[in-house]
Amino acid sequence: MTTTTAAEAPTRPSGPPRRYQMYVDGEWVDARSGETFESVDPFTGAVWAEIPRAGAADVDVAVRAARRAFDEGPWGRTTATERARMMRRLGDLIAERARDVAVVESIDNGKLLREMEGQLKGMPAWYEYFAGAADKLTGETLPSDKANFFIYTVRQPVGVVAAITPWNSPILLMTWKLAPALAAGCTFVVKPAEQAPVSTLEFAKLVDEAGFPPGVFNVVTGFGPDCGAPLAEHPGVDKVAFTGSSAVGSSVMAGAAKHLAHVSLELGGKSPNIVFADSDLEAAANGIVAGVFAATGQTCMAGSRLLVAEGAYDEVMERVADRASAVQMGDPLLADTEMGPVAFSEHRDKVESFIASAREDGARLLSGGGRPGAPELADGFFVEPTLFGEVTNDMTLARQEVFGPVAAAIRFADEEEALRLANDTEFGLAAGVWTRDVQRAHRMALGLRAGTVWINSYRAVGPMAPFGGFKASGLGRENGMETLSEYTELKTVWIELTGATRDPFSLG
Ligand code: NAP
Repeated sequence: MTTTTAAEAPTRPSGPPRRYQMYVDGEWVDARSGETFESVDPFTGAVWAEIPRAGAADVDVAVRAARRAFDEGPWGRTTATERARMMRRLGDLIAERARDVAVVESIDNGKLLREMEGQLKGMPAWYEYFAGAADKLTGETLPSDKANFFIYTVRQPVGVVAAITPWNSPILLMTWKLAPALAAGCTFVVKPAEQAPVSTLEFAKLVDEAGFPPGVFNVVTGFGPDCGAPLAEHPGVDKVAFTGSSAVGSSVMAGAAKHLAHVSLELGGKSPNIVFADSDLEAAANGIVAGVFAATGQTCMAGSRLLVAEGAYDEVMERVADRASAVQMGDPLLADTEMGPVAFSEHRDKVESFIASAREDGARLLSGGGRPGAPELADGFFVEPTLFGEVTNDMTLARQEVFGPVAAAIRFADEEEALRLANDTEFGLAAGVWTRDVQRAHRMALGLRAGTVWINSYRAVGPMAPFGGFKASGLGRENGMETLSEYTELKTVWIELTGATRDPFSLG
């Protein structure tokens, strides 16, 4: 791995906060009220950007622009081949500017530059995959049960898509919606999270440069209740694609229900990472670290519940605690940093409250639990990588999503108990299984109530692999050909072949 020293690292912007505008109908605009809000760099604790604070009136303008672009603009007449060409151009621009956009994203949400840059560099694959699908959105001809009819289906774009995204991976999680939406021929309005809106605005520059017509892609920036809610509720929106917490997802769904829009929800998790005694324990310990401490634990798929076989428990705890205590915390822009701060101050308070509750509930602290003492980290919102042992599945730490670097380890006696504990949760986003027994691996994969199961691995995603949750972890799937059904309507066409007059009072 190459390391970036402090001297080689990108520099943080200095001077007054950068002033951003929103991208609506192909123009850069302020909020109609003129109001703005601030984005804070979680490593320095300083305000670094000023963003328009959009309200319902701005949302209305953006949705109308997207509506016009869909109903009347050139986008509606663009062939799938042309759409695919533009998407590939966008992918190429993302590849060219990956580092610049990643730096902005890292300053905005505090996640490691190397994680964000990796996401950006991998992102063109999504635009290529879905560009390849754009001209393959076929219907079917259907064998008719009536001799005088020819029947076929066509897939058509669902219309205007409203995307509401979280702060942890703003552009990647938007891309999981935007790439299939563009392939299908939809138009798009996105509201990024208030804590990390800047990278989505930087991304809009690439969309503009790629040559998409005005109104196809729009960004409105603002707060959940006064920008996100009116977007979900806007009658001009045909589909709402949301990623965020289960509580907000439920309220977004209720908003979309007011005008019966389609909804897909990617929500939270409390995913089990299950280690059997027959596994490669070094690989498993590494997978546990990747699952819960990478990205400072701020990932929906975090493997935050460690279910460990009695026979391997002590050794796994020792290995994970050793690795956790050696994790290098620091400036997320430096390549040798392994863990940055959490994204904002209130979020650190929330993570620390979970640590306090685990202590009160009698869990055993095996590593971390506090803030790092290094003076150079004092301004950032840091929490140490924290491992609790002797957790039981009824403790708050085992039941609720922390969204931070806190692992809860639970013992199990046998495969049956492992599966029961793993599924004893309101969530069902993902799970990891570590074993060398191929039959057990498949039994577990089939038994787990989760949208994704990784065997001897954790946190792998790709454009071709559907991702989404069972239970309170969501509705619908992103990625893979499956997601295209979320962005298309299926139309059935019946053609009468004979011209014969039929009985108007009978069906068929
Ligand atoms: P959040 O609080 O639910 O916010 C998500 C988005 O919803 C933000 O843009 C937020 O705006 C907006 N919002 C808030 N209240 C709203 C309302 N009443 N109506 C409409 N929109 C509203 O989630 P977060 O804290 O940003 O992200 C963390 C959560 O996302 C975790 O639960 C995590 O598991 C989940 N997540 C899931 C996935 C997945 O693929 N399943 C991926 C990543 C994250 P503001 O920023 O202004 O509040």
